[in-house]
Amino acid sequence: NTKVKSDIEIAQEAQLLPIQDIADQLQLTETEWEPYGRYKAKISLDVMDRLKDTKDGKVVLVTSINPTPAGEGKSTVTVGLGQALNKIGKKSVIALREPSLGPSMGMKGGAAGGGYSQVMPMEEINLHFTGDIHAITTANNALSALIDNHIHQGNELNIDTRRIVWKRVIDMNDRALRNVVVGLGGAVQGVPREDGFDITVASEIMAIFCLARNVRDLKERLSRMVVAYDMNKEPVTVKDLGVEGALTLLLKDAIKPNLVQTLENTPALIHGGPFANIAHGCNSVIATKMASKLGDYVVTESGFGADLGAEKFLDIKARYGEIDPSLVVVVATVRALKMHGGVPKDQLEKEDLGALEKGMVNLEKHIETIQSFGLPFVVALNHFVKDTDQEVEYVKKWCAEKGIEVAIAKVWEDGGKGGEELAQKVVDMIDKSENHYKPLYTLDLSLEEKMETIAQKVYGADGVDFSKKAKKQLKEFIDLGWEQLPVCMAKTQYSLSDDPTLLGRPEGFRIQIRELRASIGAGFIVAITGNVMTMPGLPKKPAAMNMDVTDEGKVEGLF
Ligand code: ADP
Repeated sequence: NTKVKSDIEIAQEAQLLPIQDIADQLQLTETEWEPYGRYKAKISLDVMDRLKDTKDGKVVLVTSINPTPAGEGKSTVTVGLGQALNKIGKKSVIALREPSLGPSMGMKGGAAGGGYSQVMPMEEINLHFTGDIHAITTANNALSALIDNHIHQGNELNIDTRRIVWKRVIDMNDRALRNVVVGLGGAVQGVPREDGFDITVASEIMAIFCLARNVRDLKERLSRMVVAYDMNKEPVTVKDLGVEGALTLLLKDAIKPNLVQTLENTPALIHGGPFANIAHGCNSVIATKMASKLGDYVVTESGFGADLGAEKFLDIKARYGEIDPSLVVVVATVRALKMHGGVPKDQLEKEDLGALEKGMVNLEKHIETIQSFGLPFVVALNHFVKDTDQEVEYVKKWCAEKGIEVAIAKVWEDGGKGGEELAQKVVDMIDKSENHYKPLYTLDLSLEEKMETIAQKVYGADGVDFSKKAKKQLKEFIDLGWEQLPVCMAKTQYSLSDDPTLLGRPEGFRIQIRELRASIGAGFIVAITGNVMTMPGLPKKPAAMNMDVTDEGKVEGLF
């Protein structure tokens, strides 16, 4: 038995093609792409004009059960399925998010898939990549600087410095920056006020970046962002400050999707990366639509469980981006299902059919959610080498009894070859099933009704309760005419409820809405539930402690 190789060891042995070959594979013309080094490129948005009359490829959305520390492997299955579709002769393009440095340094290590289903070059994708997230951070903080300068220079817009809602951001988990005071030090250092930092991937600019359809739409959305309220409680926007042009300029290269390849040279677009718990959790509309023009099948992922990423993909991204998804793949693992059935993390290696049976309710709930959007689906059991045959058989039988299609995905061990059964089922299901996709709610419902609908239909809650603050905000937002926007729920990823310790399929609970935020540029109202934080902290033993680079420049410990 050979030692199991780590993701980074496999990555470092990869036989990559020059990015030119991948661009050729996609039949991009010479002026439509520009190399960023040997293995990365940016693709011009002109491609969309050239291909505007080409039929869209099928969009396959990968989601999962509620994540546990045992790991679900959504990115791994997304990459593996893309490779597998290629293997069975379909032209597939993968569309993924750009990893944030917060979780990379904190809990997760990388976020570029795993085993023999990874996107490459994983070190660069996981670190600074092509600088998109830095550009978004810079645009965000340029706006902060411009707001503070406006106030310092006389505050013509009469901004109430106690009601500035725009925060600074950094792409790091840094709890010490959650609440800060800026402008200290006397008259020439600006006007003192309370401020705070969010993580970049929770910022409104990241959301806009991912929802914009082109540069004009990007600029329009940036101009609509509400940054503060004035002394008459009227919103102050980026347009009032006159800086939407500058912000768009800072994003002009970032907005082009990044082209890379998998370990098996399948093309992948990696672009934009909002978190799914505190933001909308999907890669950019531009990249997804471009992928569907360049391939016959797009495999794309939404973050965390179907209660978060998939709900937001189907209620927000697909609605604004006019994307018509064809099918959903729901990823589950025996390990995570056992955790939902009550097994602690350190005992997952042992066979436990009782706990598995108990934990299936979590998968069941997410399947019901996908059905309520009217979409066909396939369950992908992401196979771990320690799963026993009986456990795998149990999941298969459970699905068969309910008439659910399931495929055992061995893409982590075997790459695309291990996903051929899944790929074939995906293709067959798309060909034979009826697709009645529609969002869960219509925009004419009230904000409160929208939140109720998501809480009841997706989380299985009895309803929602508003804090005093949230109630007051709800009234203000209605008065300001924002009632018709969709809702982006910010909720823990670990549970269907807003309490991260309630695993499985909790019942008889209500969702506590603590605070609302108006993301008018992005085009949604964020509802912050439970104790969820828009600036995470680092754990006691951060993943950063295992990371290193050798004297020769070789990366270690990036999973
Ligand atoms: P997600 O997208 O759900 O967060 P990832 O695909 O990023 O999950 O996988 C998380 C980690 O789990 C990665 O380090 C990956 O290598 C590992 N992993 C995923 N699937 C498997 C598997 N079948 N066997 C072993 N490790 C796996």
